[in-house]
Amino acid sequence: MPFSKFNTLTLLQLESWVAQARTKSGQLPRYVPLLAESDPDKFALALQLDQTHQLIIGDADVPFVLMSVIKPFLLLFLLHHLGQEKVFSRVGFQPSSLAFNSVQQLIDDQGFPRNSMINSGAIALADLLPGTDADSRCEQLRQWLNQQSSSQLRLDQSMLDSVRSLPNSTNRAIAEQLAQAGYLNSVEIALDTYNQICCLSGTITDLARLGQLLAHPHPHLSATHQHTVNTAMLSCGLYETADDYAKRIGLPIKSGVSGGLLVILPDQGVIACYSPQLDQVGHSVVGLAILEQMMQWLRSGDFQS
Ligand code: GLU
Repeated sequence: MPFSKFNTLTLLQLESWVAQARTKSGQLPRYVPLLAESDPDKFALALQLDQTHQLIIGDADVPFVLMSVIKPFLLLFLLHHLGQEKVFSRVGFQPSSLAFNSVQQLIDDQGFPRNSMINSGAIALADLLPGTDADSRCEQLRQWLNQQSSSQLRLDQSMLDSVRSLPNSTNRAIAEQLAQAGYLNSVEIALDTYNQICCLSGTITDLARLGQLLAHPHPHLSATHQHTVNTAMLSCGLYETADDYAKRIGLPIKSGVSGGLLVILPDQGVIACYSPQLDQVGHSVVGLAILEQMMQWLRSGDFQS
């Protein structure tokens, strides 16, 4: 795909797509009280092609929690520290056909999590992080990501308190299934670690910087691991709708229920977006609408010249 065309994209053009996309609306998630109280009209977008070419629109300084957008980076960290064999003894690489938190999917798969982008896979991987408790595990992941990407992620303690304030019986059922099937050492530590890493928070610039870890060759990361994570995002990052977006957009994408959306443009850069209103599946409505517009523009004129 001619991503280099992005270099010619003007702020004015991007702003007009943003304005159009922001007429769309969705729902806020209800199962985390603080997320349910998010300002639905908050918005930020960063198109970062390299250190010099960056377009940012909206609430650039507003931090938001990553939620499931952390999952590709959990996978990257573990591939880097433990290698493919260990990681893929705990999690699969198959797209899922049910919701991101489906217990049924896990039961259908005899307790082996289908992929690392759904909750079962990420909870299983949270159990593999080094550290004796959730605090130290989350902290190690946070520090490593900040070092490698020059981002400034921090733990959003208020969001974590809010996540903990209501029992998440679905994630608990998933963890218990995993433990029963022998893919989890500690239900409590894995769940607590998973909740904490989902509450790592940053600005749109931090998210764009994280994305660069997967977009370009990196002195400390294996190209194979980067490719593995990008492939997992492409085929599984948007859950049961991943296949549809893979066919239409064809890029590694990850969404999270806080409204974060990360798109990798291999060898070119990233698109990072934050807009909290979600569709039925749990993806940012505005984020995906802007992406569709950008891809249409990118492909227009493909056959001219
Ligand atoms: N912590 C959230 C959950 O387990 C993450 C889900 C998401 O962002 O898609 O439900």
